[in-house]
Amino acid sequence: MIKVNKKVDNRPLFLYNIVSYKTDKEVKYLGNTFSKISSVVKSQLYPFIKLRKLSLLSYTFEDFFNYVISENDIKVLGHHFSKRQIEGLTLIDSGGISLSYEKENPVVRQNFTKCHELGHFLLNHHGTVFTELKENQTAPDEVEANYFSACLLMPDIVLLSKIYYQKSSFQEVANSLHVSYEALNIRLIDLLTYLTGESKESIIQTVHQYQSRDNRKILESFARVHDSIVSEYNSYDPGPVEKLSYLLSQKDFVTDKEVAELSQTIFRSTVSSTSIGTWAYYDKGIAIFYAWNKEKLTEGQAYQKAKDIYYLS
Ligand SMILES: [Zn+2]
Repeated sequence: MIKVNKKVDNRPLFLYNIVSYKTDKEVKYLGNTFSKISSVVKSQLYPFIKLRKLSLLSYTFEDFFNYVISENDIKVLGHHFSKRQIEGLTLIDSGGISLSYEKENPVVRQNFTKCHELGHFLLNHHGTVFTELKENQTAPDEVEANYFSACLLMPDIVLLSKIYYQKSSFQEVANSLHVSYEALNIRLIDLLTYLTGESKESIIQTVHQYQSRDNRKILESFARVHDSIVSEYNSYDPGPVEKLSYLLSQKDFVTDKEVAELSQTIFRSTVSSTSIGTWAYYDKGIAIFYAWNKEKLTEGQAYQKAKDIYYLS
């Protein structure tokens, strides 16, 4: 189950009411919040993408979103209020977790709301009810949930692939990621201001030109931050437990050739459970360590598979 257990931010009280983004302190606070939320998303999303070998060029938020929804038994519902004051709503109570979005909104807006609500849940924000009103978007948890949503809808590595490598237009990127032009605009300004360290004014110019179909400046900006986006992507690999559980959900039987940690006693005892068995096949000084899905294979069938591998490979 993907869930962040710790609060991601320790904010001084005086920063709780942000009304503009102008002072140095506020800019610094937003930079810190942005980088923390961005890391939380990447640490969960990048291993998820790699494990499933998802294509970066056809990425959309849906795979990850649907996975978390199903793993945590979250209900996703459309709602409609006649005056449309409530954009989204998350309820966490004894009956379970549900999140809802205004179904009369455009789809791109619904997507942003869904990911925003998921953000409240995965960031472990305190509370059992989160209501999205148009006017409460500067509260700290709301700022975090908005960053979360933007990072999940438009991950750094995906933007790099589409804009820098594929040379897609602004409009193509927004359409392919199912986001509004406004959301892509804000996301690119936040990301590039943070990564390049250039002034926000100059980045706003760059993004504006890109939106007007001139991509020269944005290509220069991405060229400068390319290495850091790629090295970050490379640094988030799936952990062995996550890898094993994913592989077992796909094919019932896994050996230490795929998950090398299975050869370690401690690892095997960590992952062994009522649904996962682990054992080893030994013969003539050679061992094959393996794990199997107990719901699909008996102990004997798993042992036979290991034996087959020993003799046939
Ligand atoms: Zn919210």
